Amino acid sequence: MKTILLTGCAGFIGSNFVPYFLEKYPHYRVVNLDLLTYAGNMENLKEVENEERHIFVKGNICNRELVEHLFETYDIEGVIHFAAESHVDNSIANPGVFVETNVNGTFTLLDVAYKHWMEGPFQYKEQYFVEDPSTGGTVPRFHHISTDEVYGTLGETGLFTEKTPYAPNSPYSASKASSDMIVRSYRHTYGMNTVITNCSNNYGPKQHDEKLIPTIIRNALAGNPIPIYGDGKNIRDWLYVLDHCRGIDLAYHEGKAGETYNIGGRNERDNLTIARTICKILDEILPIEKNEKFNPSSIIHHPSSYESLITFVKDRPGHDRRYAIDATKIENELGWRAEENFESGILKTVQWYLERYHD
Ligand code: NAD
Repeated sequence: MKTILLTGCAGFIGSNFVPYFLEKYPHYRVVNLDLLTYAGNMENLKEVENEERHIFVKGNICNRELVEHLFETYDIEGVIHFAAESHVDNSIANPGVFVETNVNGTFTLLDVAYKHWMEGPFQYKEQYFVEDPSTGGTVPRFHHISTDEVYGTLGETGLFTEKTPYAPNSPYSASKASSDMIVRSYRHTYGMNTVITNCSNNYGPKQHDEKLIPTIIRNALAGNPIPIYGDGKNIRDWLYVLDHCRGIDLAYHEGKAGETYNIGGRNERDNLTIARTICKILDEILPIEKNEKFNPSSIIHHPSSYESLITFVKDRPGHDRRYAIDATKIENELGWRAEENFESGILKTVQWYLERYHD
């Protein structure tokens, strides 16, 4: 049985990753370190609450003593690091906690892992680049989950590749870029076995209410205005969360040490199109006249389509115009492909929210 440390897996992506990973790998046990900030939710982990191979620890990745204790107690053989402050709007209002968690937290994990693996009682140094026959990868590995936002913004054309220079524009993306650089330095300075994946916007079940897609669904169903920043023309590449989980799994097990892999869905959509697509799905599955919880008190006329609720609001300061990922490297080197297109993924996502809506 191998034990790996996962961080931040009471949040959106991590809580999708844990059940996927434990089901696929019966020889793995995971220690899930999560502070349960406002973004973490134990409800997200209900599927694995009785699973003995999932050990949940409430705590801060910045707490060095705790992280050292976990490495020693569980003989941690790998890390996949999800934990972060992740919402751009919050980073504009309160950047300090982003530096603390995303930069200092990543440093703490990396440094404890390095000391434990390279200098500690396990002396992995000798077998450092030895292939692990059970996984095809190398042990032990530190996998850092990052974002395409580190690359800054694009014009109407072009894609982010792994060679695109970093140009982060928000305190969130700057803190993620900084953490990527620290990971990179541990590879180049100490030879640590690191992998970084930079992904585009995820969507799917269990995402926090504050993010765009849950915000659209929640407000539409309640009959509230659906807020869309600026002119609604900001473009993101959308990645279904389980496609992302498969990409992380591949990069963790088969990615080359020291490499970065971009993971994107090849699904560019602007925010207005996203809102309209969701409204159309809701019109079909739960038309307004059948939605008993729809309360159009804030609007004058009872609309026939959810789309009438779309309302443009003042743009976010420094709002990047377009992100788009070139996923060729992970596709060619590791054989990964996004299985969902936006239409299939968003339908599954809306259905997931609707199942909970009726509870
Ligand atoms: P999330 O905000 O849903 O979850 C973050 C989790 O980290 C929460 O459970 C929270 O309690 C935990 N956490 C926060 N601070 C912590 C701390 N100091 N110590 C321990 N745990 C802490 O985030 P997510 O959307 O699941 O994102 C996961 C990772 O993927 C992040 O690193 C994020 O930057 C990256 N990412 C996310 C997206 C996306 O679209 N969601 C896109 C690109 C990259």
